[in-house]
Amino acid sequence: MTDNTSPSNFLQTIIREDLEEGRVDKLVTRFPPEPNGYLHLGHAKSISVNFGLAESFGGVCHLRFDDTNPEKESQEYIESIQDDVRWLGYQWHGEVRFASSYFQQFYDWAIDLVEQGNAYVCDLTAEEAREYRGTLTAPGKNSPFRDRSIEENIDLLARMKAAEFAEGSRVLRAKIDMASPNMNLRDPIIYRIRKVAHHQTGEDWCIYPTYDFAHGQEDAIEGVTHSICTLEFEDHRPLYDWFIEHLPVPSRPRQYEFGRLNPSYTITSKRKLKQLVDQAIVSAWDDPRMPTISGMRRRGYTPRAIRKFCDMVGTTRGDGVVDVAMLEHAIRDDLNENAPRAMCVINPLKLVMTNYPEGQVEQLTVAAHPSRAELGDRTLPFTREIMIDREDFREQANKKFKRLVLGKRVRLRNAYVIEADSVERDDSGEICAVHCRVIEGTLGENPDDGVKPKGVVHWVSASEGVAVELRLYDRLFTHEAPDKGGEEFMEHLNPESLVVKKDCLVEPGLVQAEPEQIFQFEREGYFVADRYDHSVEHPVFNKTIGLRDTWTRTGNQ
Ligand code: ATP
Ligand code: MG
Repeated sequence: MTDNTSPSNFLQTIIREDLEEGRVDKLVTRFPPEPNGYLHLGHAKSISVNFGLAESFGGVCHLRFDDTNPEKESQEYIESIQDDVRWLGYQWHGEVRFASSYFQQFYDWAIDLVEQGNAYVCDLTAEEAREYRGTLTAPGKNSPFRDRSIEENIDLLARMKAAEFAEGSRVLRAKIDMASPNMNLRDPIIYRIRKVAHHQTGEDWCIYPTYDFAHGQEDAIEGVTHSICTLEFEDHRPLYDWFIEHLPVPSRPRQYEFGRLNPSYTITSKRKLKQLVDQAIVSAWDDPRMPTISGMRRRGYTPRAIRKFCDMVGTTRGDGVVDVAMLEHAIRDDLNENAPRAMCVINPLKLVMTNYPEGQVEQLTVAAHPSRAELGDRTLPFTREIMIDREDFREQANKKFKRLVLGKRVRLRNAYVIEADSVERDDSGEICAVHCRVIEGTLGENPDDGVKPKGVVHWVSASEGVAVELRLYDRLFTHEAPDKGGEEFMEHLNPESLVVKKDCLVEPGLVQAEPEQIFQFEREGYFVADRYDHSVEHPVFNKTIGLRDTWTRTGNQ
């Protein structure tokens, strides 16, 4: 792992022993996504496991697209997956690989199985095949086509490939054991007729290998030593081993399974995430509320925080749920240390400093970060009229309210102590301004008269500040396990997962923020300049996360 000080997980132990005892000369792992969607947090875990192991044991990790399912795959997904892996900070060994570039080899191996008498062409309909397959408690029955001669099978397979038969009319099956307690060994399908073009091989093929037939052989072709996958493939391992034993493959990969990452309040299924996109519940795969890597990126998550989280949750053979608060903790920690500070007023209320000259602009120099001097300084203009948040002012309040109260004092963050004298109301009776006084000599000092301010509030100059759009994001689901235990995830959408606020005011220096630059808006949370929509003319910041966890304390927001 990236963190070499943490105790070994079971995969590290296995690999260390394989290397020490000479079973393996050099570790080769791979990350094998199917390009049928954008990568999500679960994939980030798999990426960090595979690339992380290669890094820490001096091995290499391949990126291979498991593209045996052309209908659901696309070039868009292929590109986004590569971007995501690179953004997480990993580089695959050599070229990007594709299962589809081995299609001829797979076909040749299918012929080998037929010639050995270990595969046959079956004409059962899908429904009949299901009946013949048996159940978990009852053995299956042999297909009536199981004993076709090798010659007939060779002829039929060639004609399947030559597009002579309709889709669904015939399949090629491995001849293993219809009575096996492991359903995967009950003569599994290894080739289907599918008359669709493929994004890599075009019209070359009208029969495609199944994932199960392709997967282990892909690893064998590439010399992958440790095929690491998630637990749902444990029952497939005997089948993968069977293929490897029966085929003249160049190497023998070994498969090891670990538990899927299952974060609370989150969905990690490409199919369901695609549903959110297709039904326009979110704007796209990279909507900042999506648990996709590109969504988290747009939300302001950093590769460092995601990798840290993947380390923190560990790699085990258990399939437990991980509290998503751990991920939020990781990003808060990272940004607390690394994000420059800035001020932004979300619900502006005007304060007029009656004893401060009109037109005067005082440039205050303040640190970008309270403990990181190397991040430099920023300039904050102070003026007669400033904005604070409406919630930071009350006409009357008890002692618990540590902000501005009429007749009382407060410290303006990085600036003066002020005192509120009177309020100004509009026609509807709502307060539209508060008249205040600057207490002289209080820049970085307490007032001479000994009357200390009650608290600190953030502010922005009304005349020098810049209006911005804030997109306040929150968790997409209000349910801890939105798609588990029969829950219908669409029923658990958080109606407040996105609140857009226009005309918020930020300190003027933020106009220069580059897209994807992240700040702590003091007292409000962490915000990132939107990767696509932010510009000098129209600044847009996305809320990454609040300063504190408001979910665990209240059970909800
Ligand atoms: P999904 O269920 O979202 O479609 P998948 O497993 O079908 O995911 P693949 O493209 O086949 O997606 O996954 C590539 C790799 O990522 C596989 O090795 C898979 O085991 C791993 N992976 C997918 N989801 C998770 C997860 N939640 N935790 C850990 N690894 C995962
Ligand atoms: Mg899969």
